[in-house]
Amino acid sequence: MSYDAIVVGAGISGAATAYHVAKGGAKTLLLERGEPASGGTGKSAAIIRQSYSTPLLVRLARASITMFENAKNELGRDAGFVQDGYCFVVSREMVDGAKKNVAMQKSLGIVNEWSEGPGFPQHLSEIDPDGIAGVVYEPHGGYADPVQATEAYVEAFKTAGGEFRPRTPVRRLLREGDRITGVELDSGEAKANLVVNAAGPWAKPLAESAGLDLPLRCVREQDTVWQIPSGRKIPKASISMGVDATYFRPLGQGRFIIGRGFPKDYFDVDPYNYKTSADADFISDVQTRVERRFPSFAGMKLIEAYAALYDVTPDWYPFVGPRSGLAGYADFCGGSGHGFKIAPAIGRELADWLLTGKVADDFRQFSHDRIAAGNLFVQSFGGNRG
Ligand SMILES: Cc1cc2nc3c(=O)[nH]c(=O)nc-3n(C[C@H](O)[C@H](O)[C@H](O)COP(=O)(O)OP(=O)(O)OC[C@H]3O[C@@H](n4cnc5c(N)ncnc54)[C@H](O)[C@@H]3O)c2cc1C
Repeated sequence: MSYDAIVVGAGISGAATAYHVAKGGAKTLLLERGEPASGGTGKSAAIIRQSYSTPLLVRLARASITMFENAKNELGRDAGFVQDGYCFVVSREMVDGAKKNVAMQKSLGIVNEWSEGPGFPQHLSEIDPDGIAGVVYEPHGGYADPVQATEAYVEAFKTAGGEFRPRTPVRRLLREGDRITGVELDSGEAKANLVVNAAGPWAKPLAESAGLDLPLRCVREQDTVWQIPSGRKIPKASISMGVDATYFRPLGQGRFIIGRGFPKDYFDVDPYNYKTSADADFISDVQTRVERRFPSFAGMKLIEAYAALYDVTPDWYPFVGPRSGLAGYADFCGGSGHGFKIAPAIGRELADWLLTGKVADDFRQFSHDRIAAGNLFVQSFGGNRG
């Protein structure tokens, strides 16, 4: 069997990329060990915001929002996109950076509003104002259904002529000298001019199977789902509560996914063997932080708690695109806990790059080449990561 392109992994990254590559006319095979979105994507809070600190990520987040909005027309199914807005609530230490980013985002055409202090009572009612120095509100933000969005891409990929094989693990990449030539499956080899590694937290062992370096950490990320007692005033918007290092994603009918954001400790785990239930102290820590900030959440009931994986790069920006000195291979991994919302636009630009050789200068920096060049996006971190 021989293909123009093989994409490994049907999370949001691989599914979006495979769709755009197939739509561009390439004979494409999409391989998935389990089912679509059975990796990090399926557990994602899938909060969508444009609140980033570099023009590249702002541009990609904005472009992805347009793609989520148009999913029904473009892909034939919608992506479960609920555009109920997004709030980034900041502490005094975060104010200067947040204001600078708001101005930069506005200059790129992003619609957002800044409020000094707790502000926006229509979005953040009954909030304890303690420690809140300001709020950024984005009306175009919100959240999507990560499984539905991924399935929409997989279905559109098949409609575009692509071949999808679920329950088909790739055992290793095939390499001849400085070229990746295909993949090894349980059923034999599949050859391709190009292999895209979109295997998420499992991308590192896959790359290493062909002797490729991929500096990805695999860290455990816990989330909780809560039912708020009925009759309470609750926010509609998704929220990054920077001041408490928590995030909130509405699920509808008084339910929220609530997790812990930066700053916190990140613990490395084996992606093939990690604890998938949440820790009791994590759950009670979340509950304490939330009930202190939103008295109206008092008495909330735990519905579910789990742990999934972040695939984290040294600068928390993904690895995307080909590498110098290696033919037939491209990375698209390292979503670093915020990769869902930008994956559709990255998938499209990556496909253009692979099919035409043309790439925007800022997008080219996503390549793994930035490691050898010492050209990381960010040397130190703060603020809104996830
Ligand atoms: C708990 C949690 C909350 C998050 N919240 C947000 C958020 O609010 N907003 C946001 O933008 N991002 C968020 N993220 C990050 C975002 O979800 C991820 O960056 C993104 O979904 C990663 O998608 P992916 O396709 O790159 O990887 P994955 O979804 O992990 O997909 C990789 C796929 O490859 C398959 N695979 C692996 N190895 C092989 C192999 N050898 N052969 C075949 N298939 C293979 C896996 O089964 C998997 O389906 C969150 C992540 C987590 C875990």
